[in-house]
Amino acid sequence: DKGKVTSFLSIQQGCNKTCTYCIVPTVRGKEINRPADDILLEANYLIQKGVKEITLIGQTVNSWKSNGLKFSDLLNLVGELESLERIRFTTSYPRDFTKKLIKTMKTNPKVCSHIHLPVQSGSNNILSKMNRTYTSQWYLDVVNRLKDEIADMAVSSDIIVGFPGETEKDFEQTLKLIEEVEFDTCFSFKYSPRPGTPAAVMENFIDSDIAGKRLSILQEFQRKITYKKNEERAGKIEEVLVEGISKNDPENLMGRTSQNRIVNFAAKNNLVGRLVNVKINNGFQNSLLGTII
Ligand code: SF4
Repeated sequence: DKGKVTSFLSIQQGCNKTCTYCIVPTVRGKEINRPADDILLEANYLIQKGVKEITLIGQTVNSWKSNGLKFSDLLNLVGELESLERIRFTTSYPRDFTKKLIKTMKTNPKVCSHIHLPVQSGSNNILSKMNRTYTSQWYLDVVNRLKDEIADMAVSSDIIVGFPGETEKDFEQTLKLIEEVEFDTCFSFKYSPRPGTPAAVMENFIDSDIAGKRLSILQEFQRKITYKKNEERAGKIEEVLVEGISKNDPENLMGRTSQNRIVNFAAKNNLVGRLVNVKINNGFQNSLLGTII
């Protein structure tokens, strides 16, 4: 692992939610949160090995709590570790996104301006069948608060298409939500039943071809938004944490912005692990191209 700039750090096992399509709570059991001391010990170990960016991971990472500490407290404790430049976390559960957490993201300079916040559907009818315990408006309110409070906030999401009972109208509501939020990126999937879950025995399964068509429409819709948002970065100066040699061109280095965009640029290898400023020349579908300044 020596020389790795970024690393995941697991802070939670299992899940206390009951999404009707998901097998995780059955397979992995109830949520178990790792104590803060234990997490900090591993974080320190990673930092000593040269890690500059840690991504805290858990099924519903923002519901972490331990010995009276909340997730926002944990972010601040990890943020105090010297030589660590950046903190990310995933996956967040919308209902557990507190005002205190938004405030911590805003005030702690090491916490990146990117959140992965799966919405799964834009239809309240489907959200209720999924037992996601929030409405699309509730989700939008969280995202709007994040965007209002934190400058240049990036939001990514997960969406399931073709959940049992999904009508054309439900699907259109999902597209409407995508249009409203303008996700930076979105991972979308065709619903597939997991045996043993409540959704697997629901009525009104969606024909696979119809679900496939909806998925293509949604992905094309999102693809354009992602491209537009990447193009808009041209001319901007981005702070990039250099991760290594670019996959596209061995002459280039590759890093990420706080918003989790990949940036390729020409520079010497000895910048790996450093934060550098890069002027963006072009925005493409999956990455940006720039010049170090
Ligand atoms: S989808 Fe995520 S939040 Fe829902 S039960 Fe599965 S792991 Fe938990």
